[in-house]
Amino acid sequence: MHENILKNIDIVALEKEYGVLKKSNGNYRCRKCLMTDGYTAEEKKCRWCGQDLFEMDRV
Ligand SMILES: [Zn+2]
Repeated sequence: MHENILKNIDIVALEKEYGVLKKSNGNYRCRKCLMTDGYTAEEKKCRWCGQDLFEMDRV
């Protein structure tokens, strides 16, 4: 019970610190079309042009 509460607090703190959208793994800027959007860990492909996204493209 206490561990779950601590985990939730950590997630909220991380979301605030990095500006990560809820239900997304992070914001990525496509290196091809330069669109920035939130993506989950499963997507990792630009939804605008289909370009693969890489960890170094994370913003
Ligand atoms: Zn793109």
